[in-house]
Amino acid sequence: MDSRPTKFIFVTGGVASSVGKGLTCAAIGALLEARGLKVTVLKLDPYINVDPGTMSPFQHGEVFVTDDGAETDLDLGHYERFIETRMSKLNNFTTGKVYETVIANERRGDYLGGTVQVIPHITDEIKRRVFQAAKGVDICIVEIGGTVGDIESLPFLEAIRQMRADVGMQNALYIHVTLVPYIAAANEYKTKPTQHSVKELTGFGIIPGIIICRSENKLDFKLKKKISLFCNVSENCVVNAPDVSTIYELPLMLHNENLDQRIVELLNIWTGAPNLSAWQKIVDTIKNPGNGRINIAMVGKYVELTESYKSLTEALNHGGFANDCGVEITYVDSESIEQRGAEEVISTAAGSQGIDAILVPGGFGERGSEGKIAAVRYAREKKIPYFGICLGLQIAVIEYARNVAGMKNATSSEFVSDSDCAVIDIMDDQKGVDKKGASMRLGAYPCILKKDSLCRKIYGQDEISERHRHRFEVSNRFRTRLEKSGLVFSGTSPNNELAEIIELKDHPWFVGVQFHPEFKSTPRNPHPLFKSFVSAALNYRRLRQSSSGQKEKAQSPDDGSHFPPEVN
Ligand code: GLN
Repeated sequence: MDSRPTKFIFVTGGVASSVGKGLTCAAIGALLEARGLKVTVLKLDPYINVDPGTMSPFQHGEVFVTDDGAETDLDLGHYERFIETRMSKLNNFTTGKVYETVIANERRGDYLGGTVQVIPHITDEIKRRVFQAAKGVDICIVEIGGTVGDIESLPFLEAIRQMRADVGMQNALYIHVTLVPYIAAANEYKTKPTQHSVKELTGFGIIPGIIICRSENKLDFKLKKKISLFCNVSENCVVNAPDVSTIYELPLMLHNENLDQRIVELLNIWTGAPNLSAWQKIVDTIKNPGNGRINIAMVGKYVELTESYKSLTEALNHGGFANDCGVEITYVDSESIEQRGAEEVISTAAGSQGIDAILVPGGFGERGSEGKIAAVRYAREKKIPYFGICLGLQIAVIEYARNVAGMKNATSSEFVSDSDCAVIDIMDDQKGVDKKGASMRLGAYPCILKKDSLCRKIYGQDEISERHRHRFEVSNRFRTRLEKSGLVFSGTSPNNELAEIIELKDHPWFVGVQFHPEFKSTPRNPHPLFKSFVSAALNYRRLRQSSSGQKEKAQSPDDGSHFPPEVN
């Protein structure tokens, strides 16, 4: 039996948030995996919400959903995109969750007679959860949310301080990710904030073994020397991570800084050199896409907040890698479509480049829904590739019901609670739900694909499993009528009760899915739906370009060519 102990890497952040701590953890995971180690990554969030599921995308960005139905921090999406190990509800917990458990224990009488305190009760619960998630791996990377010095992260810092003594000095390593800002007026990078941050961390009893310095451009060797001197870290353990043009370059960049070598030395692990050829290939494709770039209009209401579509934008990029092309996303505010019409807004959204496909992502609430419906109609009628995800499927069903199946008042009961034509309705088992947290239909469910459908062809298999996060569904009251007017239900739950995928026959690529395929796409294994959608967009672009080329060649504007072309 393998008796190697699990080694822990605790990653803290200094100076500022948003310096890419999550991505750094993910990239470290990728490097250690490439050395043949089994890795997992955890995110410990210091806020008091029990999970991010009830937080607005404006506050928190995307809510990432795991197979086992946990609503988690978006960093878990980065982890899954960089490492092979799948995330579960064990991989992310918050102060709120820790206190919830400890208070439940107290009410049960588990600490009867004792005073319940931050140390040891809260810190013990934090450690219990970390050990539980670390079972069976060689390396457990633990990212502490927030920045050192925040009041609310103190119990987490205390817990990881204790853990090094618990597991043995050679089995734990602290990595501090800091920002080294560039001060334009002095034309200099400044190390002082890093010095202060490390000093503060040391004050909690945590001595970093490696400092990763984020900076705009590459730092001079002298600066590394200075940080080494003032922060008590050997020179070769000061790692510079300047901004990269693509996040998928991070493993390569950190490897060039010898980060993985330093980590295995400090943790006393023997491994071979990592094989990073897959990452190199991805970066080469991103920098030099053989098939140019396509432009996708993403129609939603949080468009100014791209963090809320993190997995989706990445999945589209992955679809691009698979087609050797770059993917440009043009965010279109659905409310502007309500004011100015779909044709005008979408056809001009990307300037002279034009739009090659339209996508309506997941979302909640009525605001902007009419604009989304108009966008879907435009895609359907002009035969522009359309991909609807979750709410995007529901919107497509409403559009089809209204404009093809003759149900003029079709809507969703999420938008109109007392409609008699709710083609999208609340799911039966959601009807009695009166709490908001963790109560949607969440996580992976199986779906059976219809023979001869486009989706069956795309997936290449009869049964799939995809992740969900919704309360509403296509109402079975209207399914037959919609089917009779041409809407294809190409994927359903195994008992056929729940519509999971819709598609259209007389359209080059029109697919709506009730689940979120973006959560399962990775750069090394692009999701088949995104691969196929990008390929359809590429085809559309070719047709569009050849038709406008013909138009230019023709003397008369009435030469019979159409823009956009009608393709079947
Ligand atoms: N609001 C819709 C529902 O709850 C769609 C959810 C989503 O897009 N994730 O069913």
